[in-house]
Amino acid sequence: MTAGRSFALSFSGGDAVVTGAASGIGAATAATLMSAGIRTIRLDIRQPDPDPNYGPELQVCCAADVRDTNLVAVLQAHGANVGTISYLVNCAGIIDNTGFAGVSREQWARCLEINLIGAYNLIDALTPSLRAAKAGAIVNITSIEAHRVIALSDPDPTPQYAASKAGLRMLTQTSARALAADGVRVNSISPGFVATPMAATHGDTNSLPPTLAPRVPAGRFARPDEIASAAAFLLSDQAAYITGSDLRVDGGFELT
Ligand code: NAP
Repeated sequence: MTAGRSFALSFSGGDAVVTGAASGIGAATAATLMSAGIRTIRLDIRQPDPDPNYGPELQVCCAADVRDTNLVAVLQAHGANVGTISYLVNCAGIIDNTGFAGVSREQWARCLEINLIGAYNLIDALTPSLRAAKAGAIVNITSIEAHRVIALSDPDPTPQYAASKAGLRMLTQTSARALAADGVRVNSISPGFVATPMAATHGDTNSLPPTLAPRVPAGRFARPDEIASAAAFLLSDQAAYITGSDLRVDGGFELT
């Protein structure tokens, strides 16, 4: 008799902030945390619509740009209690499909400012709360592009996106080292191909295109909730000894 077997995650910290929470992986991560009973500040550059599955006691919808250097004031203006935040998931990001040649200074700056410096802005703004929190933890959403060259935008790889994600991986490690003494853990997730609006800019996400299918042993796109589950684990009490790590959730892409 195996029915009903399960293994629950526990979260002994307080509230969470998820950036990029209006869409894709961020929306799924916020929903997963709210399903665990964690009050979640859902931050996005566009004010996220309230998730109809959860009441106002579990969610704060916050319009903010991760490039803003005064994020504490922005969060407070939306009614968030910054002092009770224990968890942060940096998910906001943009992708450019420029190819390699001719990327302008403005394109470089925008990509790095959102994907990399934006994550630092959140970490830095919330460090006092996370240091004071019980079980403070951060997850940064990087990419398989942080680790190897993937030319999705034929024929060339896009340098600024890959560099921003590789930088975010190292920011994960420097943050983990800087905050470890105060009990704050910092890890990253490197997703493979996830069926979100961002991935849809490359084409249909219902099935892998013929060029990609042989490179993904799992044979399909990830669902956003599969990345969210990994993020929830890394934030949970059960991951208490994991810091500075990167978890690839890529359907085996690294094997090919
Ligand atoms: P998505 O559906 O486009 O969601 C990203 C969200 O971030 C969007 O709502 C976006 O708003 C928001 N955002 C953009 N700039 C922002 C800013 N300056 N401040 C606050 N929010 C901002 O993308 P996703 O696929 O869920 O991606 C989430 C993260 O996973 C990204 O960091 C991405 O690089 C990473 N990732 C995705 C995949 C994949 O296959 N989907 C693979 C590896 C890594 P707008 O829509 O208005 O721009």
